[in-house]
Amino acid sequence: MALSIHALILLLERCLMNRPARTRFAPSPTGRMHLGGARTALYDYLLARQSGGQFILRIEDTDTRRTVPGSEQELIEGLRWLGLEYDEGPDVGGPYAPYRQSERREIYHHYAWELVEKGAAYPCFCSPERLERVRKERQAQKLNTGYDGFCRHLDPDEARRRVRQGEPHVIRFKAPREGTTTAVDLLRGPITTPNFMIDDYILLKSDGLPTYHLAAMVDDHLMGITHVIRGSEWLSTFPLHVLIVRAFGWEEPLWVHLSVFLKPSGKGKMSKRDASLAMDSGYSIYIGDLRALGYVPEGVLNWIALMGWGVEGDDVMTLEEMVRRFDLKHLNPAPAAINFSKLDHFSGVHIRRLPTAELARRLQPYLPAADLPLLERIVPLIRERLITLDEAPQWVDFLFQDEVHPQPGELVGKNMSVEQTKQVLRRALEILESFPELEAKAIEAPLRALVEELGLSAGQVFGVLRVAVTGKTVSPPLMESMEVLGRERTLNRLRKALQLLEAQSVTEGA
Ligand code: GLU
Repeated sequence: MALSIHALILLLERCLMNRPARTRFAPSPTGRMHLGGARTALYDYLLARQSGGQFILRIEDTDTRRTVPGSEQELIEGLRWLGLEYDEGPDVGGPYAPYRQSERREIYHHYAWELVEKGAAYPCFCSPERLERVRKERQAQKLNTGYDGFCRHLDPDEARRRVRQGEPHVIRFKAPREGTTTAVDLLRGPITTPNFMIDDYILLKSDGLPTYHLAAMVDDHLMGITHVIRGSEWLSTFPLHVLIVRAFGWEEPLWVHLSVFLKPSGKGKMSKRDASLAMDSGYSIYIGDLRALGYVPEGVLNWIALMGWGVEGDDVMTLEEMVRRFDLKHLNPAPAAINFSKLDHFSGVHIRRLPTAELARRLQPYLPAADLPLLERIVPLIRERLITLDEAPQWVDFLFQDEVHPQPGELVGKNMSVEQTKQVLRRALEILESFPELEAKAIEAPLRALVEELGLSAGQVFGVLRVAVTGKTVSPPLMESMEVLGRERTLNRLRKALQLLEAQSVTEGA
């Protein structure tokens, strides 16, 4: 107990000192990069940048059976797209390379045996068959199914001899049987666990590769990690982890276990099935999908930042603003329900905040027929309307079509006759033909005057012109659309619409 209070004071002191943080994002390349991983990486990044420290990417790939080819690349691309640049990592190197755990095998071997030498770990020769039999027996007796400690009391010299002779073995942690262990999580405070509940976990597997428990503790120490920010799934083995660090005699990092994400209904954790349901409705929990769906990284970051961070005041933030305002003390350990309409909100807000040239550049892949100067003219037409970048074509496709095909039924406005509609088109043509080019500012007043002149509403007159020029009842602002479309094409479309109605009147008259 004395130690844990001492540790607690040390931790708090360090927290207050605000020394440069070295944080790491340590994903296992076992699947796709999702919101949970991205949020951990974001908080790691914010803390490192804010304190003038470093943010590290470490790939935890020692569970080779679960490794999914391509997932390391997806993680790296996800981080780059989000703008979470790391200072050290497998592809950029750094003073503590290698940053891929599969390339650090000898290091873990060395440290596993250091624990054996210290009497805090031991080789275990139990076969998988024996372990399975014991597990079943204990289950039947309603005992806990952890390791029964068969090899714990082997004579150390005898055990070493068997290892030297090449007998298959693992290295297990020798968890204390008496007393309690207090581990301090920054968000949850001290967590005390009776030691008999802590299993003799495997540290080094029979294939010579470490488990997470050993590899992560060793690397966090060797890489000088000051804050371990990770998912709450690690809370159950948290006491083991602090015991391992203490057995080595190392200084503990600050531990932060983040909240879990719940499905949008708030009932239960997100499952694979929920993830595909989200996709069916145009959303996703995977970073690569959100990118493909046309969300902007600024919006995605803002959205995930607030899942567990109780920010005070304006919650619209760029990455730089988050760096300034981030505070571990404001993180909330309570589960957070995923709210996709907030994603839409933040994506739209951040699209509107992008400078014109930047938004134009980002829209280029979605509107390949337009060059940058044209895109910069299109941006003001649609900026206010976009939630995702991929919506751009549906707003401005009429600019890239040779002709549009308005429906006669849509051309003729509400409570208007065909005759009145033709009149609108004829008069608009006369007005616009008198301009050498169609500048939105210049044509606005005469077109508004036309509304007066015809005794119709603005909605009626502009509705007719909108359908004639864009082929649709909903479009970006009309005058600006005409300006970007250009004089010739605008006039042609108005003439075509007029002809369409005239042809129709003839048919109807016949
Ligand atoms: N490799 C672990 C995971 O992907 C990392 C947990 C941690 O950050 O320590 O869950």
